[in-house]
Amino acid sequence: MTVRDQLEERERANLSGLAMCSADTRGRLQALEPCPLRTNFQRDRDRILHSKAFRRLKHKTQMLFAPDGDHYRTRLTHTLEVSQVARTLARSLALNEDLAEAIALGHDLGHTPFGHAGERVLDRVIPGGFRHTEQSLRVIDRLERDGQGLNLTFEVRDGIAHHSGDMQPQTLEGRCVHLADRIAYINHDIDDGLRAGLIHPGDLPKRSLAVLGNSHGARIDTMIGDIVCTSNRKPDIRMSEAVWEATDLLRDFLFERIYLGPLAQKEERKAARMLEELVAYCIHKPQCMPMEYVRICEVEGVERGVCDFVACMTDRYAMRCYKEWI
Ligand code: MG
Repeated sequence: MTVRDQLEERERANLSGLAMCSADTRGRLQALEPCPLRTNFQRDRDRILHSKAFRRLKHKTQMLFAPDGDHYRTRLTHTLEVSQVARTLARSLALNEDLAEAIALGHDLGHTPFGHAGERVLDRVIPGGFRHTEQSLRVIDRLERDGQGLNLTFEVRDGIAHHSGDMQPQTLEGRCVHLADRIAYINHDIDDGLRAGLIHPGDLPKRSLAVLGNSHGARIDTMIGDIVCTSNRKPDIRMSEAVWEATDLLRDFLFERIYLGPLAQKEERKAARMLEELVAYCIHKPQCMPMEYVRICEVEGVERGVCDFVACMTDRYAMRCYKEWI
């Protein structure tokens, strides 16, 4: 009996009947000899952690563009916070923590430089549009490992592809990540917004604070605890109505004051111009890109190759290319 066999037995004995057991995976795109030590989902988590796209998250915007301060979140620390919240949810609900962790670590691998501003530019200039969820799947299926992809399990790919948007993931672990992403960004964007002086503590909506708490930690605790109480032994992962409403109010506040505020609009115009010009330059001169993207242009068309190249850029790499080429 291998270590993996023992771990699979332990999952069956200890996890809720609603959890996704790793031995029951619907499998990978290409057959792969099982690992003697790790379950399928542990292996997927490790493959994501060792990917180049994961390391690039360090230099991609979360909320503030290429911030100077050492304490602001980046796409990498956002991802780690999502993973921590998702694992707490999964463990508390006796779901598969390894699956939740793998989905969380991979969920934003397709994010563009300059956050959602970058996403909106590619959506405008690339025929067929652009969504970071679909790009995350493309990174793991097609772009990583010099075009071989990471060959992950169906459940991890499904959770990554549906971590935001209207279509829900098929597993409860995927649903945990969907909510963990929301909990993480709402709370840390408030924290970063306060640190940057974009908002002040007295600005936060009082009705939200009355339900969720007055501190960063209290609000995260309330949200997580509420999901665990509301979802225990239920075939769905959700917040109670009251906590959902209070959380949504905070989210609306962030949109109004930060995401669509005057500083974001000014930054977005700068980022948009930079990325639009980079896309136009690369479409005109695809051979300026690294060979792996030139090859994609040959097989799937120049727009696809340029879109992959620009979407994969970090903030600082995009700025460096802009300076050198334009
Ligand atoms: Mg995210």
